[in-house]
Amino acid sequence: MIYSEESFDFVIIGGGTAGANRNLDPKIQVPGSVTQLFRDVEYDWSFNTVPQESLNERAINHPPGKVFGGSSATNAIGWNRDNMTRARLDIDYMDYKLYGKDGPIQTAISNFTMPLTRLLGATLKNLGHKATKDPISGEAVGAYSCPSFIDPRSATRSHAGVAYYDPVKSRPNLHLKENALVEKIVLEKLTDGSVIATESTFGSPALLELSGIGDPALLTSLGIDVVIPNLNVGENLQNHVMTTVTAEVLNPDDSLDSLGDPAKLATAIEAYTTHQTGPLSAGFSATSYLPPTPTPLPRLANPIPPPRHHPPLPDRHPALTQRRRRRDLPRLLPSGTNLISLVPALMHPLSRGTVHITSASPTVYPAINPNYLSHPLDLELFARGLLYCSTVLAPQSLAALLKEGGKGMPERRLATLAEARAYARERAGTMFHPCGTCAMMPREGGAVVGERLVVHGARNLRVVDASVFPVIVKGPVTSSVFAVAERAADLVRGELG
Ligand SMILES: Cc1cc2nc3c(=O)[nH]c(=O)nc-3n(C[C@H](O)[C@H](O)[C@H](O)COP(=O)(O)OP(=O)(O)OC[C@H]3O[C@@H](n4cnc5c(N)ncnc54)[C@H](O)[C@@H]3O)c2cc1C
Repeated sequence: MIYSEESFDFVIIGGGTAGANRNLDPKIQVPGSVTQLFRDVEYDWSFNTVPQESLNERAINHPPGKVFGGSSATNAIGWNRDNMTRARLDIDYMDYKLYGKDGPIQTAISNFTMPLTRLLGATLKNLGHKATKDPISGEAVGAYSCPSFIDPRSATRSHAGVAYYDPVKSRPNLHLKENALVEKIVLEKLTDGSVIATESTFGSPALLELSGIGDPALLTSLGIDVVIPNLNVGENLQNHVMTTVTAEVLNPDDSLDSLGDPAKLATAIEAYTTHQTGPLSAGFSATSYLPPTPTPLPRLANPIPPPRHHPPLPDRHPALTQRRRRRDLPRLLPSGTNLISLVPALMHPLSRGTVHITSASPTVYPAINPNYLSHPLDLELFARGLLYCSTVLAPQSLAALLKEGGKGMPERRLATLAEARAYARERAGTMFHPCGTCAMMPREGGAVVGERLVVHGARNLRVVDASVFPVIVKGPVTSSVFAVAERAADLVRGELG
């Protein structure tokens, strides 16, 4: 569909316009249905990375949301009830001064918890990891119950589509174009209005390149006219790396896998629809930030690698053509196996990757190469985190949940660093938090946008999404993306006077 006849003061590209407005879709609304969204091309872009050298040549699937509200409508999300008490939910760490009360996005802590959730926090505290502060301070380490994007009034997901768009959707000067793929920005025509690109870490650099903003060598090799040369577009890709360590439980009801039983699922649906409670009302809740374990680490003089520009085509992505593609599909355990999962993740990765177009056609997906675990320290730290999962599952309180000789991944508890490194290579993947490819920095320092989020060299083109983070944040990234978007709104409002 082409909307070339219309003109607007501001065009915001993204926000789910390439997909549909599914704000009323139960798969999006019901917190507990989050796993049903993963890998459904109706709901996400289903990108694949190029094969990852440090991950045994596996290609990793990335599913950013393709619906209104973007990934905030499809990501992993707990909520609270009015009658909860701080002690029962174990949220003594909370520092209420740090929380706003009047923003559009709702967050809450689930009052529904599985036994693992409760035991995990207690086990980690016994191992010396009590939360030192509220994690929202950015300084805390330790175990805590994690608030999620859930509106406690309705027990539904609170995301950009419902929290920001729905309240203003009837404004006569606001137009939503659904199912529209933006192909390029014609900068020469951008004289009066203003464009705000929000297609995120893979989409925004790709759109800039398609519009002639990027590495001249790459653009000319693809027959694209160079409008603003900038070697940094699509560089600096960063992401949290994670995997799962699973174990079979003794009592099937201690695992959410038991919802595979139609009778149990029917009970869960009944609990949600009548009382907004039960497993479908909750997101993931038990979280902890742990420092690197005491196992000695190699010392590196300069651990942060400088920005690395990609070599020119055609050998920039030999992996695309020369290597057999392997998908990162998990080795599936027989259905009927009821598992619990620990999800170790690397919060401060030093590996850096790239996202670049390989064609002038906007329908061809860009080549995504995160270089996961390519920095030696990343593998070392991640392997130590994996090894520590064996320590976490060992205490009697947690071990009592598990079936002796039960199934799980890895099949045998990891015992050495060498085993942990091998497991990382075989099983690590994305935590779905890619960022950094249109970084905000001084131009000579590797930047694409400046401090006002305006693309260097352009006058009225902004990028406002996770791609502008120069360095990945610790923990889930969505709240930081909302903060960037709020800042952009303030900047634009200020400019309008
Ligand atoms: C499966 C999954 C689980 C996650 N879990 C969590 C979590 O638990 N906690 C957390 O904090 N974060 C989580 N995240 C990450 C978080 O959701 C994202 O980092 C964040 O939403 C990114 O916001 P954004 O605005 O940069 O991009 P998005 O929210 O992805 O929005 C980009 C929008 O642009 C649209 N778009 C892209 N290209 C075009 C184009 N050419 N034309 C038109 N539109 C286009 C897309 O369809 C999309 O709607 C998760 C992400 C995923 C995918």
